[in-house]
Amino acid sequence: MSIQWLEDVRSTDIETVGGKGASLGELTAAGLPVPPGFVVTADTYRTFLETAGIDEERFGGLDVDPDDDTGLAAAASQARELITETPLPESVREEIITAYRSVGGETDDQPSEPFVAVRSSATAEDLPDASFAGQHGTYLNVTENDLITRVKACWASLFSERAVHYRNNQGFDHDDVDIAVVVQQMVDAEKSGVLFTRHPSTGDRQMIVEAAWGLGEAVVSGTVSPDHYVIDPETATVVESTIADKKQQMLKDPETGETAIQPVPDTDRTTRVLTDEEVERLVELGQRVEAHYDAPQDVEWAIVNGEAFMLQSRPITTISETAGTDPAAATGGDAERSSTAPERAKSSTDGAADTLVRGVSASPGTGSGAVRIVKKLDHLDQVTEGDIIVSKMTMPDMVPAMKRASAIITDEGGMTSHASIVSREMGVPAVVGTQDATQTLTNGQIVTVDGEMGTVREGSTDDESAIQPDPLEAVRPQTPVKPMTATEVKVNLSIPDAAERAAATGADGVGLLRTEHMVLSLGKTPARYIDDHGEEAYIDELVSGIRTVAEEFYPRPVRARTLDAPTDEFRELKGGSDEPHEHNPMLGYRGIRRSLDDPDPFRCELRAFSRLFEMGYDNVELMIPLVNDAEDIERTTLLMEQVGIDPAKARWGVMIETPASALLIEEIAATGVDFVSFGTNDLTQYTLAVDRNNEHVAARFDELHPSVLKLIGSTIETCRELDVETSICGQAASKPAMVKFLVEKGISSVSANIDAVRDVQHEVKRVEQKLLLDSVR
Ligand code: PEP
Ligand code: MG
Repeated sequence: MSIQWLEDVRSTDIETVGGKGASLGELTAAGLPVPPGFVVTADTYRTFLETAGIDEERFGGLDVDPDDDTGLAAAASQARELITETPLPESVREEIITAYRSVGGETDDQPSEPFVAVRSSATAEDLPDASFAGQHGTYLNVTENDLITRVKACWASLFSERAVHYRNNQGFDHDDVDIAVVVQQMVDAEKSGVLFTRHPSTGDRQMIVEAAWGLGEAVVSGTVSPDHYVIDPETATVVESTIADKKQQMLKDPETGETAIQPVPDTDRTTRVLTDEEVERLVELGQRVEAHYDAPQDVEWAIVNGEAFMLQSRPITTISETAGTDPAAATGGDAERSSTAPERAKSSTDGAADTLVRGVSASPGTGSGAVRIVKKLDHLDQVTEGDIIVSKMTMPDMVPAMKRASAIITDEGGMTSHASIVSREMGVPAVVGTQDATQTLTNGQIVTVDGEMGTVREGSTDDESAIQPDPLEAVRPQTPVKPMTATEVKVNLSIPDAAERAAATGADGVGLLRTEHMVLSLGKTPARYIDDHGEEAYIDELVSGIRTVAEEFYPRPVRARTLDAPTDEFRELKGGSDEPHEHNPMLGYRGIRRSLDDPDPFRCELRAFSRLFEMGYDNVELMIPLVNDAEDIERTTLLMEQVGIDPAKARWGVMIETPASALLIEEIAATGVDFVSFGTNDLTQYTLAVDRNNEHVAARFDELHPSVLKLIGSTIETCRELDVETSICGQAASKPAMVKFLVEKGISSVSANIDAVRDVQHEVKRVEQKLLLDSVR
């Protein structure tokens, strides 16, 4: 038998029908409402490979160095081709088609040729420590014509580059994972979503439901923001709900039968998806499935014509042993964190005489150790574990040394300079813009850096506060579930190594992935690197850095930005002496203006994006920095097309960082951008004429200045009219006052630094709830 009917399958049959098939079979047998269907077994797949004699060829081909991207891509593509091009034995074909014909049968609204969902079900799927979520193919609304092709496409999806890379990363042998395929009657969901039968973090007796219009794929893949309901299971009543603005839904096109993202009619966008009766029905199903498995479950469900179906159920593995405390009380802490040291010192009792230097409190936390003054790039080697790095300004590729350091002090810079951004990201305490730390402090001197106060004191501290928390635990949300917000809260990232930490915040995606650090860490300018190693090697480096983040966040979106490094940041690198000398690098040769002027290295960056799209990283979005007008954008999209990126298909957008771009937002929207994102670090410096890296004018750097807010407010208004998404990824996204302003204006998402995400989630939720309350009062 090549197939097994779902009603004959049990949860112990994973080896034969894969994780998804086993779970659906168990639910069917338990009498729960699962759409009828069958599974093309893993044995069928295995026998196909063996009979066709492609088994050895397939695994032999994949036996390449996992770091050899090009070799891996070629081998994976060859394996896929072997599977799709080798014909299926006629007997197997017939068995699948016959089974298909009896799925659904013929009724008034179900034509004789039923629509089915074809879903991969890998045998290593949904293991406790490897979810394989989103790794393998799923095809909706399939009919007889393309059924066999789709089944084989599921088999081949075991060999997408992404899946191969994932198995390599997770330590699975390619040989260990087989794939079955579930063929199941299609439910044309009017509404769908997920249901947690217990609170996913605390295990509290609360059910959590997320619901959106249309097919569930849109919720699971993160394409739409769903409504969020907290339900008391005893009474089956909603105790808390957040109704999202559901702009899109995934529906079947009645003409072509294809599934497509479509706009939600205006009248339904902010309407609550679930009725009270539907909530009751889901609670009942949740209780039955939990009782059946005797464990909390995470269920995918769909509703059509008032009837609820279960599409999948897995155990919730994230429930922690101890309930966390609600950090809501900490909301507002950012106002302090982002104030400058001189302001903080005034209100501080820490005016002690042992304060050696003061600066801007750039990254919170306290660290003690021996001063290591670093003047040149090669001095970074001398930084040993626990040292305090003291330098004039951030250095290219300080990152490895930062990992060893217990704190960082710089003479120059402000809150938004790269030293600050990177140290916050890495969770290393930092005080920047001290003006004279490299003169005042001496090598070997023992000091304590207070990143919160912006001070450096003589001596060490055995105070408990000096012990740094585990950086991963420090950012992990401690509330039961992350606050559900209609406005998405994303995270900014510069160093791929920090991706796990960034993802642990529960952010809805990456709102800004700066690629500068990937390039700076090569130790050579792009031009020199390409001269020495060739274009392909440069592209490989970019692909590998962006992919690490895209993988960690998949399917949450990752907005990666093309290069924007001022010439002075490149100076210390090999090849840096060829960089032009500029009077004011911040106003100079950087961002898209440099990329358009010197398109060869830029084309390599775009080719890296093109490669990632081909590899299946459909969560990667492309963002262009420092544009002034539509011409900048049109010249960029031409280059995108030249490397094979179709601007109509890829998701891309631009940063609003100059007053020019904010003032010309209509013409920018007309270029076809999917989104714009406010880079308030630059927008503030260019609007107020305050150099963001100049500590002498740091007190004048004010992202909340009325002129900056006016530009942002009017841009959001226009974008809402023109249906362009808006976001912010500058440092100001961490300020509660800015968050309040933006949410009230109707921004689509905000993206904050890792250390601030948790507070921003709470702040956004607070403002949204207040808006809702005000609207009904
Ligand atoms: C900004 O300008 O606000 C921004 C996010 O970009 P960067 O800090 O890298 O210039
Ligand atoms: Mg910028």
